[in-house]
Amino acid sequence: MNVLIAGAGPTGLTLGIELARRGIAVRVIDKATEFFDGSRGDGLQPRTLEVFEDLGVLDEVLKQGRSVPLMKIHLSGQLVDERRMAEPVEPTADIPYPNAWMLGQSRTEKILRDKLAEYGVQVELDTAIVGFSQTTDVVTAELSTGETVTADYLVGADGGKSFVRKQLGIAFEGTTDESIRMLLGDVAADGLDHEVGYWFAAKDNPMSGIAMTPLSGGDQFQFGAPLDGEDADTSIEGLQALVDNYAGPGTAKLRDLTWSTVWRPNVRLAEKFRVGRVFIAGDAAHVHPPTGGQGLNTGVQDAYNLGWKLADGREEVLATYETERRTNAARVLGISEDLMQKHVDGDESALERGENTRQLDVSYRDLADTRPLTSGDRAPDAPVVDAEGNKVRLFELFRGPHETLLRFSPTTPSTHPHAVEITSPEAFAIYHAQPGDEILIRPDGYLA
Ligand SMILES: Cc1cc2nc3c(=O)[nH]c(=O)nc-3n(C[C@H](O)[C@H](O)[C@H](O)COP(=O)(O)OP(=O)(O)OC[C@H]3O[C@@H](n4cnc5c(N)ncnc54)[C@H](O)[C@@H]3O)c2cc1C
Repeated sequence: MNVLIAGAGPTGLTLGIELARRGIAVRVIDKATEFFDGSRGDGLQPRTLEVFEDLGVLDEVLKQGRSVPLMKIHLSGQLVDERRMAEPVEPTADIPYPNAWMLGQSRTEKILRDKLAEYGVQVELDTAIVGFSQTTDVVTAELSTGETVTADYLVGADGGKSFVRKQLGIAFEGTTDESIRMLLGDVAADGLDHEVGYWFAAKDNPMSGIAMTPLSGGDQFQFGAPLDGEDADTSIEGLQALVDNYAGPGTAKLRDLTWSTVWRPNVRLAEKFRVGRVFIAGDAAHVHPPTGGQGLNTGVQDAYNLGWKLADGREEVLATYETERRTNAARVLGISEDLMQKHVDGDESALERGENTRQLDVSYRDLADTRPLTSGDRAPDAPVVDAEGNKVRLFELFRGPHETLLRFSPTTPSTHPHAVEITSPEAFAIYHAQPGDEILIRPDGYLA
């Protein structure tokens, strides 16, 4: 089997790893001539960290990233408050990574690319998909290099403006709010403490200002400033003027502006996630406002859901991708849009509570049309004892492309290659299990 993935953002890379580690021939092409260097999606949600543990990239992500910084709120030059987007909470036996983790998207992508390369797959830059057709058996794609590729499946992970989605004629319904615009980018700022974040605004208009959030692995901050109708100046001089205006002249001297853009909130959901042998995933299938930090995370989860199903190849399994992920995307879009409105209205309390954004509560329970794959909630972590008598976490046993059979105090032997015998009372409690229960955990960590 072979799969062509168009787009090497976080979605395409995650899918590439998922397929390559199952020994499936995969090509990951990208129309860009070089890798994008902006921080964009810099908030990794707890569920994404769990996926990254399974993919074997979590250690690097933790090493290179940082915790969510304290934000110092300055109004008219005075420090008036200090707060965090979400207060950190302690890990528990069932939730090992309860807090979001900050890492600029370009760094996350580099880590994923390095992992993909370990499986012998290099991203092919300057290679766009420019046309394709399909039969019931095969997809034939035309590349900008002039090459024609045949593949069993094509996945469009080619971002919000997805060529693949448009070519399939899939509607992308939703809104682009032209009334809200934000200046976003990455810059270094001498005079600011890189351990914390800042919000600078005027006392009489506290919602109009500039946020500076420290980026790990250097001295840059990601900045974000709502634009009130003024012409956007994306140059460093324009940005310096904005910072001087909100923070006071001399507060910060900007340098090293590597990315700057004017962004409009877009909330859209594709009508379908699949036509025949062609799938769409990530921003190609749903685009989000940045509030709540869901876009990148939802794309990673799409890829994690789709990878093992493509490898499985049975139609009834493949059919569940759209049902599970489109339902989830619709829910997540509701959350991000809600938070965006609260942000516009000046109510930051929901964001501060980290409400609903951790993606740990994503569930595929009670979805119609997912038979025979009746599925449930996320399989939690739990302390167990492995076959050699060592104390391990369930997530360590889930690592890899396989499914896992949990057997609670079994009385008979099992032939399942990944059966785990569980006697720990804590695991019984976490799984609400009774002696003799058996629970199958899908390769993507959901109760089957
Ligand atoms: C300012 C900003 C802040 C954000 N903050 C967050 C956050 O905190 N948390 C979060 O989760 N998300 C955030 N996001 C969203 C996040 O950046 C996106 O959701 C994420 O990049 C989507 O990943 P993707 O792989 O689906 O698509 P993309 O990252 O858009 O990747 C698509 C790739 O496809 C390539 N491509 C396009 N057309 C073709 C073609 N025809 N052929 C081949 N390749 C093609 C492109 O070059 C690109 O590399 C933010 C976005 C922005 C702009």
